[in-house]
Amino acid sequence: MSNFDCDLFVIGAGSGGVRAGRMAAQRGARVVVAEAGALGGTCVNVGCIPKKLYSYAAYFGEWAEQSHGFGWVGEAPRFDWAVLKQRRAAEIKRLNGVYEGLLHGAGVQLLRGWARVVDEHTVAVDCAGGEQRLTAQHILLATGGAPEKSGLPGDAWAKSSDDMFDLDPFPKRLVVVGGGYIACEFASIFRGLGAEVTLVHRGTHLLRGFDQEMAVFLTGEMRKKGVKVCLETTVTEAERQGGIQRLRLSNGQTLEADAVLHATGRRARTEGLGLEALGIALNKDGTVPVDDRLQTRVPSIHALGDLVGRKALTPVALAEAMYLVDRLFGPVAGKLVRQPIDYDLVPTAVFTHPNVGTVGLSEEAARRAYPKLRVYRAEFKALQHTLSESTERTLMKLLVDDASDRVVGLHMVGHDAGEVVQGFAVAMQGGLTKAVFDRTLGIHPTGAEEFVTMR
Ligand code: FAD
Ligand code: NDP
Repeated sequence: MSNFDCDLFVIGAGSGGVRAGRMAAQRGARVVVAEAGALGGTCVNVGCIPKKLYSYAAYFGEWAEQSHGFGWVGEAPRFDWAVLKQRRAAEIKRLNGVYEGLLHGAGVQLLRGWARVVDEHTVAVDCAGGEQRLTAQHILLATGGAPEKSGLPGDAWAKSSDDMFDLDPFPKRLVVVGGGYIACEFASIFRGLGAEVTLVHRGTHLLRGFDQEMAVFLTGEMRKKGVKVCLETTVTEAERQGGIQRLRLSNGQTLEADAVLHATGRRARTEGLGLEALGIALNKDGTVPVDDRLQTRVPSIHALGDLVGRKALTPVALAEAMYLVDRLFGPVAGKLVRQPIDYDLVPTAVFTHPNVGTVGLSEEAARRAYPKLRVYRAEFKALQHTLSESTERTLMKLLVDDASDRVVGLHMVGHDAGEVVQGFAVAMQGGLTKAVFDRTLGIHPTGAEEFVTMR
């Protein structure tokens, strides 16, 4: 046990901070966690969880329509935005309590307030009763990120993703600017809930960095569901009159909107953390530089999650937290020390309608990495849509390095692609070959079976 007030001081009780604090405490470390906002951070309060709840909500309208093809008759029920907002808020409040219980249960001391690093072993927290200073053997920065102002016309009135969950009133006409995860997901969600949605993206494809064929296919599917997608287009002028915003676009179009979402990226949250005084200079994109062991240039100060921005995803923040705790405090008895994360094999899903699920390399990246690549594709109408009369189609793709027969990329655009790809991510982590995929029997009739029947 050290002579410091605690062994680990964690700043930020989001995905990474809570996991690190709990795991360290379970290993006998004396842990203090400081949180300025709501427990659970971005994911629980304004990210993955409320977003996925709204995505589920958005499916019901579509399903109600599709049910007619299966013999259900009568009008679809009416959507009530106020009910959804209220029920989401109650569930998030419940989760905030769960997180508090987890920290308490593990014996972590929780301080509520903004924290800053004073020196390499001291943290100051602005608590309600006044500033508290504690010394710590290790300090973990887990302050995450926040929406970045776009600087585009109309930025002053534009909403960020944080604002979208409690919009009042429900926007009948929504313009979304951006073409990344958040832009695509919110465009799908609000379209599904009944808004007229236009997505304006400066690039030639949505979802930069994803397999381009999948991105093009998704664009087509989103358009079929009524999202107007304007590619290679920018907002050139914006004005506001009353509650209505008028946007002029580079393609000559003028749009009127009740709300405009700027989903043009997020920035690491470093303001007021005291990093300059410690000589920790930020990377160009505003993230905190760390080495492979998640250590900053100050040996007692570590950082993880969105703040370091290797991949801004909750499972990455969690995995980094568990790796770091093993490194600093040793593994749980009888377990092996976790190794640094393989950032090349992080599975991910975009919860658009339909979903995108992906693990491994895009075709563009795989062609650069492997001289001879075999590409397997399956495009089809899912069984459920043969009666629903929906025109939705599914695209699945496997990329195989010909020399080793190893599957190096696996992609899907289709219903519940996130659920499907999670299982196949295990196969990819295991370095499985196409021959193993071929030996695996399908589960019939499913969409996922296509991944083992592609020839
Ligand atoms: P955070 O969860 O952001 O936690 C940081 C915490 O630090 C916050 O609670 C903050 O209040 C606190 N804090 C900051 N500064 C201080 C300070 N100085 N003192 C005290 N406290 C401080 N990822 C997925 O994997 N799947 C998804 O479906 C998904 N959907 C998303 C949807 C949206 C709209 C957004 C915005 C993100 C989504 N993400 C998703 C990303 C995911 O939410 C983040 O990668 C994850 O939350 C990062 O965890 P973190 O611990 O690094 O930071
Ligand atoms: P992204 O970086 O994914 O997307 C930002 C988008 O904004 C890009 O399309 C970018 O275009 C565009 N853009 C940036 N600056 C401008 C500008 N000045 N004018 C016009 N367009 C601009 O960020 P997001 O905010 O969507 O998401 C942040 C991160 O959060 C994601 O990368 C992901 O890691 C995480 N997340 C994960 C989710 C999930 O797991 N399902 C869901 C939501 C978020 P261009 O491509 O041309 O640069």
